[in-house]
Amino acid sequence: DCQAVKKSLLDSINRLKLDKEVKVVETGCMGPCDQGPVMVVYPEGVFYRRLKPADAVEIAEEHLLKGRVVKHLIYQTPETGSAALTFEQIDFFNKQTRIALRNTGIINPESVEEYIARNGYQALGRVLSKMTPEEVIDLVKKSGLRGRGGAGFPTGLKWEFSARAQGKPKYVVCNADEGDPGAFMDRSILEGDPHSVLEAMAICGYATGAGQGYVYVRAEYPLAVQRLNLAIRKAREYGLLGENIFGTGFGFDVEIRVGAGAFVCGEETALLASIEGRRGEPRPKPPFPAQGGLWGKPTVINNVETWANIPPIILNGADWFAGIGTEKSKGTKVFALAGKVNNTGLVEVPMGTTLREIIFDIGGGIPNGKKFKAAQTGGPSGGCIPAKHLDVPVDYESLTELGAIMGSGGLIIMDEDTCMVDLARFFVEFVQDESCGKCSPCRIGTRRMLEILDRITKGRGRDGDIELLEELGRGIKAGALCGLGQTAPNPVLSTIRHFREEYEAHIYQHR
Ligand code: SF4
Repeated sequence: DCQAVKKSLLDSINRLKLDKEVKVVETGCMGPCDQGPVMVVYPEGVFYRRLKPADAVEIAEEHLLKGRVVKHLIYQTPETGSAALTFEQIDFFNKQTRIALRNTGIINPESVEEYIARNGYQALGRVLSKMTPEEVIDLVKKSGLRGRGGAGFPTGLKWEFSARAQGKPKYVVCNADEGDPGAFMDRSILEGDPHSVLEAMAICGYATGAGQGYVYVRAEYPLAVQRLNLAIRKAREYGLLGENIFGTGFGFDVEIRVGAGAFVCGEETALLASIEGRRGEPRPKPPFPAQGGLWGKPTVINNVETWANIPPIILNGADWFAGIGTEKSKGTKVFALAGKVNNTGLVEVPMGTTLREIIFDIGGGIPNGKKFKAAQTGGPSGGCIPAKHLDVPVDYESLTELGAIMGSGGLIIMDEDTCMVDLARFFVEFVQDESCGKCSPCRIGTRRMLEILDRITKGRGRDGDIELLEELGRGIKAGALCGLGQTAPNPVLSTIRHFREEYEAHIYQHR
C-alpha cells in the first residue's frame, strides 16, 4: 500500500511544475498501524493518514503546489472530532517517550548520513576516543538497563561477565528472532533504524574485547534483512565497521545469520547453536553464553531493543536513563499494542506507566463501546492481567507478581467478548507446535495440556480438569529444560488464576 502511495506521489510531483524542490523520503514504521499508510509533509509537519494512491495526488496538487492543507486527510480525534495537524498533537504520539524508537519513522533507514545527522555513531566515537572498556561497562551498569527480550537480566552485568571471562575470540550477538505472535518491536527497529543496533554492538565489542558480531534475524523479516545488509555495507564504507574504526586501531565487524523460522531459536542457546550451523536446540545452562557461548567462547547476546538503547545511554549518561522509569525497571519499553483496542501499533512508554494509560490514553480505549476485559503480556510465555489491575504500573516486578511477565513487548487487549479459555488454548497450541521436543516435560506435558483444553473448549470437560491443568503446569515449569517450556503453562495458569469461572462454565454448563 505504502509503495503505491509513494509511486503516486512521485508521479504527481513529476507531472506538476512545482516552484520548489520536494524530496520524498521513505522511512521505517512510525507506529500507528491502524492509521497507515501515513505521510508527513515538512517543514509544517502536517500528518496525513490512511492514504490511498489518489490521496497522494490530492496532497501534491493542493498542499505541495498551492500550500493548502488537505483537511479530510488529517487526523481527527474519534471522540471529539477535533483535528490534529501534526503528529505531535495526537495523543498516540505525544504521550510516548521514544528512546529505542527515536529514529524509526523519522529517518531514511537506508541512509547512514541521516543516522549520523541525528547523532548516529557519536556514541561509538566517544567510547573509542574517551572511555576505557571498564568505564563503558560501568556506565551501562549504572544506567540500570535490563534485557528487553523478556528475562530482564541487567545488561551491564552481562557485558562484565563476558569481559572478564577467559577465552578468545569473544563475540557479540543480536537476537532478532522475534517470534511472539503479535510482536513486531524488533522488526520495526531493524527496518527503521538498523545503524542503531550496529553502533551498539560495536560499543559492546570494544567494552568486552570482541571483534565479531552476528545478527540472528528471522527469514520472515526480508525487509529487515535487506536494510541490515545495506547498513552493514555502508558502515564498512564509512569506516564505522571493519578493521580500524575511526582510525583508532579497534576492529569490529558484523555478519547476518538468517534463521529458518523456528520459535525455539529465540532461546539464546538454541540461537547460538543455529549460528554455529547445528540444529537449533536449547542446551542446559551453565555455561551461560557470557562464559561459554558461540563455539564455546564468551559471547554477549542481547535483543534488538536492548541494543537500540545503548547509543543514547552513552551520549546522555547513566543518570539520564536511570531517571526514567521505576526503581528497579529503568528506561522505557516498546509494546506492540494489538487486539481489541482503537489505536493499534507500536508504542514506547516509560517503565511504570500504568496499563490504563497505555490502553486508554495512548490506545484510545476499546472499540464499539465494549468493556475492557484483560490484557495479555509476554505472548506465549506471559499471562493475563484482568480489569481490576488496570492501574498496575508496567514494570518487570509488578507484572511478575500478577502472574504475567513483561516479555518482549507483545500486548494483546481483550474485550468482554473474548473467551479466556480459547485464548489459553491458542497459546498452548502455539508452544506445542514450536516445542523442539528435546525434553519430555515440554514435549509431552504441553501435548497433554492441549488435549485437556481441547475437550474443555468443546464442552466435554471433566471434573478435575482444572486441577489437572494446574498440576501439569507446575510440573512443566519445574521440569522443562529451556525458557520456552518453563513459561509455556503461563497463559493457562494465569487465566485459571484470574478467570477460573470461565473454565468452570465451559465444563459445567453442558451438564
Ligand atoms: Fe525443547 Fe521445550 Fe525442552 Fe525447550 S523446554 S528444550 S523447547 S522441549
